[in-house]
Amino acid sequence: MGAFNLETCARPNILALEPYRCARDDYKDDGTNILLDANENAYGPSLHKPSSNSNDGPIVDFLGLHRYPDPYQTDLKQLLCNLRNTKKHTTKTLTPDHLFVGVGSDEAIDALLRAFCRPGKDRILVCPPTYGMYSVSAAINDVGLLKIPLLPAPNFQLDLPAILSALSAPDADTIKLLYLCTPGNPTGSSLSKSDFAQILAHPTWNGVVVLDEAYIDFAPEGSSLAEWVTEFPNLVVMQTLSKAFGMAGIRLGAAFTSPPIARLLNAMKAPYNIPSPTSALAQYAVDPKRGLPVMQENRAKIVAQRERLIQELGSGRIQGVGRLRGGKDSNFLLYEILNREGKPDNVTALAVYERLAENKGVVVRFRGKEHGCTGCLRITVGTEEEVTRFLEALERTLKEVRGGIQPDADEERKEEEASAVVG
Ligand SMILES: *Cc1c(COP(=O)(O)O)cnc(C)c1O
Repeated sequence: MGAFNLETCARPNILALEPYRCARDDYKDDGTNILLDANENAYGPSLHKPSSNSNDGPIVDFLGLHRYPDPYQTDLKQLLCNLRNTKKHTTKTLTPDHLFVGVGSDEAIDALLRAFCRPGKDRILVCPPTYGMYSVSAAINDVGLLKIPLLPAPNFQLDLPAILSALSAPDADTIKLLYLCTPGNPTGSSLSKSDFAQILAHPTWNGVVVLDEAYIDFAPEGSSLAEWVTEFPNLVVMQTLSKAFGMAGIRLGAAFTSPPIARLLNAMKAPYNIPSPTSALAQYAVDPKRGLPVMQENRAKIVAQRERLIQELGSGRIQGVGRLRGGKDSNFLLYEILNREGKPDNVTALAVYERLAENKGVVVRFRGKEHGCTGCLRITVGTEEEVTRFLEALERTLKEVRGGIQPDADEERKEEEASAVVG
């Protein structure tokens, strides 16, 4: 045996990482579970209308796969610009040189950290409760975290005075990036445009504001600030095809930013980071004549089911469902679960989460440990059938948990499987 010792050889911040875990590790996608845990598009990818001719589907050039893909992705970038050039927030026009495209938003999150933050010295500012990848990516890059929580539910807005003063503090030169999620995950609340304007106008802070717009197409029309990157040199707006476009499987994310920042990100990336099948499918999905109308149809169905869930859960009909926390701008909702005393409670919420998954095959996300989210479950809006099954399962599970009944899990499970509607 040589002298190799992983514990002293590998970087300490990497040794400290926990492997990525999600609800799917416990509750698999075996075709019987209803997966309302990861905010995917329940109605499927933006590929073709069920009624349309199947020859009209996307063309992946399988016989061209021996060639490396296009490293520039200019055609895809132009389509993404067309989608966001609305003239609503500026008179200027987005062009492909405002864009970086990567393997999901994850690649842009990491690339920005590597581009701006010196390991062991610099920090990013995040506003919990928020998306977990910002802090995971910071840890991988040995970059510090400054947390300034959002104001309390239900508004979950930025604590602007606290942010502005952190950006004026003597050590503000080590804050290089602000990661802001709008609409927020897990809050579902859109942040205020005027708050962003005030941060971008900060007189002394030398850093970059990153807006994560993963859910922007579920917010009111015209909400995206992507075209604002033509106005500010230090703004990044991230988007993804994983949510409204229903294309999580192809891994395509985009970062709109000023051409100089886009140049940095493009210079850093692996030359062939976007596989050609991903590019072909992405171009199909965002094409106004092909995938875009499918996205718009599926979105309308999701919005209808979101309204139905709000009606049903807000009606007081299901005992043990508390308040809606946060907003309605995404394809998920954050609801409190109440204990027998009527208080939002993590023990009760976790029991409901586990029983929903184990006995009813309905997987949601427990978010009670997040800042300001005590007792909360995050529920992805599903299809009509999925929402029906979720509501029934939730009502029965709450009765059991809050009534202290111990059901025979196997019996329950068999019963449910027998009447399962697989969406
Ligand atoms: C789902 C999600 C993303 C998407 O990440 P991809 O890597 O593009 O799939 C990005 N940001 C937030 C806040 C999300 O919830």
